Amino acid sequence: MSDIKVRFAPSPTGNLHIGSARTALFNWLFARSQGGSFVLRIEDTDTARSTDEFIDGILEGMKWMGLDWDEGPFRQTERFDLYKKHIDDLLKSGDAYYCYCSPEELDVHRKQAMAEGKPMSYNRKCRDSKEPVEGVKPVVRFAMPLDGSIVIDDMIKGKVTFNNEELDDLIIARSDGTPTYNLVVVADDVDMGITHVIRGEDHLNNTPKQAHIYRALGSETPRFAHQSLILGPDKGKMSKRHGATSVLDYREAGFLPSALMNYLARLGWSHGDQEIFTTKELTEHFSMKNVGTSASIYDKDKLLWLNAEHIKMTPPEEMLGHLTPYLIKEGLVEEGWSPEPEWFKKALATLVERAKDLNELASMMRYYIKDDYAFDDMAKKKFLNENTKPILEDILTAIKGVTDFNEEAIEATLKTVTEKREIGLGKVAQPLRVAMTGGTASPGIFEVLAVVGKDSTIKRLERAIEACA
Ligand code: GLU
Repeated sequence: MSDIKVRFAPSPTGNLHIGSARTALFNWLFARSQGGSFVLRIEDTDTARSTDEFIDGILEGMKWMGLDWDEGPFRQTERFDLYKKHIDDLLKSGDAYYCYCSPEELDVHRKQAMAEGKPMSYNRKCRDSKEPVEGVKPVVRFAMPLDGSIVIDDMIKGKVTFNNEELDDLIIARSDGTPTYNLVVVADDVDMGITHVIRGEDHLNNTPKQAHIYRALGSETPRFAHQSLILGPDKGKMSKRHGATSVLDYREAGFLPSALMNYLARLGWSHGDQEIFTTKELTEHFSMKNVGTSASIYDKDKLLWLNAEHIKMTPPEEMLGHLTPYLIKEGLVEEGWSPEPEWFKKALATLVERAKDLNELASMMRYYIKDDYAFDDMAKKKFLNENTKPILEDILTAIKGVTDFNEEAIEATLKTVTEKREIGLGKVAQPLRVAMTGGTASPGIFEVLAVVGKDSTIKRLERAIEACA
């Protein structure tokens, strides 16, 4: 273990957004690639907008993606004593002060500044006056340095300089004593020993303020890394109109977590021109050096392509765990389904090239699992009728005589039917396909029969013969 420690700090005011999931992923990959540890911290101090349902959804999304954490989840609402102690310390050291200005007063000042085109920051009226105002519950403000500048050496953006005079004396505790975002985030990062803060660039403007709070608390600042945000193809902020934004919606739509992870990792990070990565490869190759600064544009087609690639490369024993919930959703199997491994492997091998997502794959498994699927209307009309009935009867008779029910034997058996009737394989294969699968599109018919097995093949042929008008 190295002493690298990162954290993912979502606010549970919504679902796990793919932008946040990417932040979580980059922290996780950094920790895992460096032998560091990954902390999960729930920033739930906005009690009006935070809910337990959102927390559950965030945890579920992270678990589904395989983003396991080493410490936490910590909830900020359970850590108020720590924040209070830090606020008291800052008041004692003179790095913070009570402000008694009323909201009306601040409003007048803000409007005046706006009219004069000046920054709308607090005018620091209470900074030097130590006199309490009777009957007023004060807020606590942080005393920012009044001149000079601060340089943040960002791991992604390089050196970014901020003038201190542009930094507001921000409120660190409200009049009811509750702490605010910039204070709690620093207090926790200090307390938890966070060494690197990787987050979205929407937080870059908070960074100089936080850096001054670290200094005032007598702590070194962590290294910061600010990632560019995910944008839609129209360069607008990624939103629902561009595609699903919640991680669990991708699960619902049949994406493999490894595919989403691969996709999000490549949104901002690269390793030569490699596009397809297993999770193991990501943790091996990830490096902050190769995280770029340009905006990341969401590309749905690429994500779909990656999903199809991951479906092909996921080992069957792993796929079973991923696919089972979709098979349950399709009503094909029940919780705890445990197919014979060789059979599942064979069945999967015939389908993986054909499925773009797990919903499709589960739906294709239907004819491997159930004997009594419905016949497609058009297919039935065309291929299960009085002309094809004798062909199906011949197939049935021939099949009954096969002893070793494998692809070669099946092919040879069907050949006896085509030869006897002097017809091409297509004339035999299509009615047989409808009999076996209910429709006209399926993997190779010999493969299908081999997966379905002799007994079920016989049952299905009998059922199809009966259905012939
Ligand atoms: N809770 C903040 C958010 O969800 C993250 C704070 C941080 O990473 O410093 O945007």
